[in-house]
Amino acid sequence: MTLKAFKMRLYPNQKQIKQIKQTFGSTRFVWNQMLARQSARHKNNPNAKYQNNYAMDLMLTTLKAEYPWLKDVDNTALQATNSNLHDAFQRFFNKKLSNGYPCFKSKKNYAQSYTTKNNGQSIKVIDDHHLKLPKLGKVYFRAGRILTGKVKRATVRINSQGQYYAIVLVESEKQVLKPKTKQVVGIDLGLDSLMILSNGQKVNMVHFDNDAKQQIRVWERKTARRRQNALKEIAFDKHEKVLFPRTSLRQFPRYQQARLTVAKLKRQVSDRRNDKLQKLTTQLVQGYDVIVVEKLNTQGMLKNHHLARAISNAGWGNLVRMLQYKCDWYGKQLIIVDPKYTSRICSACGQHNHQFDGLSQHEWLAVREWQCPTCGTHLDRDLNASQNILKRGLAQIEKEKALA
Ligand SMILES: [Zn+2]
Repeated sequence: MTLKAFKMRLYPNQKQIKQIKQTFGSTRFVWNQMLARQSARHKNNPNAKYQNNYAMDLMLTTLKAEYPWLKDVDNTALQATNSNLHDAFQRFFNKKLSNGYPCFKSKKNYAQSYTTKNNGQSIKVIDDHHLKLPKLGKVYFRAGRILTGKVKRATVRINSQGQYYAIVLVESEKQVLKPKTKQVVGIDLGLDSLMILSNGQKVNMVHFDNDAKQQIRVWERKTARRRQNALKEIAFDKHEKVLFPRTSLRQFPRYQQARLTVAKLKRQVSDRRNDKLQKLTTQLVQGYDVIVVEKLNTQGMLKNHHLARAISNAGWGNLVRMLQYKCDWYGKQLIIVDPKYTSRICSACGQHNHQFDGLSQHEWLAVREWQCPTCGTHLDRDLNASQNILKRGLAQIEKEKALA
């Protein structure tokens, strides 16, 4: 059994919108209350044990007595908030994954979401266009594809453009792809090309978003200017004590329009990129039984400003994540290997080339091809790396077989 998610656009009616917004508000309130309590508890007594999500669920009962309006929303959504907060704390305790101490959530964020867990039949895909959600009833939706299976949970969200979506997680059977292709491949993730396969095939990331980027830049500037002006007007109204002072940026339609345009353009770019990655990974999983990729240290690389843009553009992290779950669905094998020295070792004779040891990272990235001083083979940097990656992956399989 495997978990699969699919996304749908929701078209809630006015009453449902009201209920969804109330749920956003309540889950945010619970998150902030719990976070404040955890912090206060630690401050008052540094030796006090951290309260996990079950303990927070118990606190929820007292919170409901204090704030009865919390009873009007889906209870599983409030519990899911506790478990999300618990996860955020776990990430913080486990320093490797940390994004820092959990933050309070703000009402001012345009994007909001809540997660609801299936409780018997509380979430159900009724037909091609109707989803049953707790407290909301039947909500109309449109989706590119609908997966069947037992629904585990659903996340309802509004994006910064004011569109509603649901991401539904279902449990379904694994579909093992047959026949096996008996093909193996190593992939080097590059900058010039999105990836280089060990058989010499190069996959380029089309820079179709260059036009869009230009437009985004223009609209971002407009947004910033209109925001500044709006803030000035708000300050003016406050200072002059006008009769009906404007207090929120939401009261400035021209600023809102610019903001929505930026969000829309960014979305188009990311949709296109995502679509391309989906197609690529599906092709790879169909074509090969074993796929070997390198382990990426994206956090280390993002610190280097020149590379940051290119990396985020290529969406490496996404690509590996997609390969991971698709390999899992279709019964293929994804091996992640240590990329250390893969571009400095000769794939023909296996000797480590020390010629480039003194170069800075920048200079080293500029070396596109080199000749092996031991065996004389002329090597393309990225292709050589992908072949080394494949070798490492296959060696790993052999090692596992020997152990088993
Ligand atoms: Zn060599």
